[in-house]
Amino acid sequence: MISGASGTGKGTVCQKLLDESPGMVYSISATTRQPRKGEVDGREYFFITVEQFKSWLAEEKFLEHAEVFGNFYGTPAHKIEECLSSGIDVLLEIDVQGALNVMKKCPDGIYIFLLPPSFDELCNRIKKRGTESPEGLQRRLASSTNEIAVGKNYQYVVVNDSVDDAVKKIKSIIAAERCKVNRNLNDFEKYKGEESLN
Ligand code: 5GP
Repeated sequence: MISGASGTGKGTVCQKLLDESPGMVYSISATTRQPRKGEVDGREYFFITVEQFKSWLAEEKFLEHAEVFGNFYGTPAHKIEECLSSGIDVLLEIDVQGALNVMKKCPDGIYIFLLPPSFDELCNRIKKRGTESPEGLQRRLASSTNEIAVGKNYQYVVVNDSVDDAVKKIKSIIAAERCKVNRNLNDFEKYKGEESLN
């Protein structure tokens, strides 16, 4: 799971991570916000109406959901359950409220918080995007410091001063997590009761 304040460059980092991690699957969220230029339904998001969102919610289709900047976002549970039960890694790129909920439900997940190199750089990145109204920009900037404060609840923090370095660090984190003893207890089982030489 990767989160970070708006304009941190999560999208670019996640895309590169996916490109370099064959077998890793991206969890496509549902949202009620309008698609941005270039976004495709079913690729970046499932773009649905508020009515559809409410009915998915009533049918308990979401692992978590949150209201972010006046729009609803939700993580469909079905795909994640399917992948995890087949041993496939799933990448979630969701906001901090949603992440805190998933942490409770999935304590085995890897939770990484992405930070921008500086606050000035964060402002520049949001402005450069040019997809927001002045009010939208102000809202995103105002919430950034709050989101960053929640980042302390994550397990790992990566500063995105270079996309290449950030992706390298995330891949190292995943590799180290895969080597954790409690994820590999079966490897020890093989040696149980095998103390004599053949
Ligand atoms: P954007 O509209 O810029 O794509 O995303 C706005 C925020 O919503 C980002 O912080 C993004 O991580 C978050 N987000 C995207 N999908 C989900 C989701 O399924 N659940 C939650 N809680 N947040 C999401």
